[in-house]
Amino acid sequence: MSTSSNGAKLVKSGAEPMVRAEAVHKSFGAAHILKGIDLEVAPREVFCLIGPSGSGKSTFLRCVNHLEQISAGRLWVDGELIGYREHGGRLHELRPREVAAKRRDIGMVFQRFNLFPHLTAIENVMEGPVQVRRESKAVARERAQRLLDRVGLADKAASFPSQLSGGQQQRVAIARALAMEPKLMLFDEPTSALDPELVGDVLDVMRSLAEDGMTMIVVTHEMGFAREVGDALVFMDDGQVVESGHPRDVLSRPQHERTKAFLSKVL
Ligand code: ADP
Ligand code: MG
Repeated sequence: MSTSSNGAKLVKSGAEPMVRAEAVHKSFGAAHILKGIDLEVAPREVFCLIGPSGSGKSTFLRCVNHLEQISAGRLWVDGELIGYREHGGRLHELRPREVAAKRRDIGMVFQRFNLFPHLTAIENVMEGPVQVRRESKAVARERAQRLLDRVGLADKAASFPSQLSGGQQQRVAIARALAMEPKLMLFDEPTSALDPELVGDVLDVMRSLAEDGMTMIVVTHEMGFAREVGDALVFMDDGQVVESGHPRDVLSRPQHERTKAFLSKVL
């Protein structure tokens, strides 16, 4: 890392975080959900987010992915302030079309796989590049087949979602997100809806993505994954970051009562 005290130089040296949240607040009407989130996700980092149901984890991911507008604070993705673009030295609010363009750089995988039921596995993976990026079907198909290989589903290209197990569907969903060549992947409890015996295959795919250097924010209750694959872990409760650190430290030696109470329930 650069030793320069000049912030601009640090940015240019590539030390800039992939995601930076500064006092991020989010309210829905009178409901104050995110209450000042500060965090940084470095490039190539696997950043795990844990916390009780309702603590605001999904809301935070949705803000990062431009699906929700934050109410206060500042949030940057890949060096750009979310919701704004700079022009002539001033910040301008993004138009819907510009927001859509930004979202293409971020892949998101949900608890429910959300595949198109009327499309085969490979068609699901081709959909984004063909429809959104106007890529030729031949090019999109070639990449989609490579991605299906990568998630261990080379032989399922022609299967429809209903013919696949939950774990297989989730791996297609990961391949579909990767097809847009995102610079950041968001996982929102990707294994929570799966039968226990199917969880491992999905976690293996996520682990291999991590090994390839993908920057990932992973909301999960899989503490084994967080401990083995995570570079950083944040425990959130009631819309606030309660505790953060290296996963092994936070999981083995939680410092706060709320973290201890939560971990005693999930570990
Ligand atoms: P988590 O993912 O940690 O379980 P969420 O971010 O889904 O938590 O939700 C945090 C709180 O925000 C919940 O109380 C939820 O009901 C509320 N919430 C989320 N989305 C909306 C919305 N669109 N409108 C109103 N309340 C919402
Ligand atoms: Mg959630």
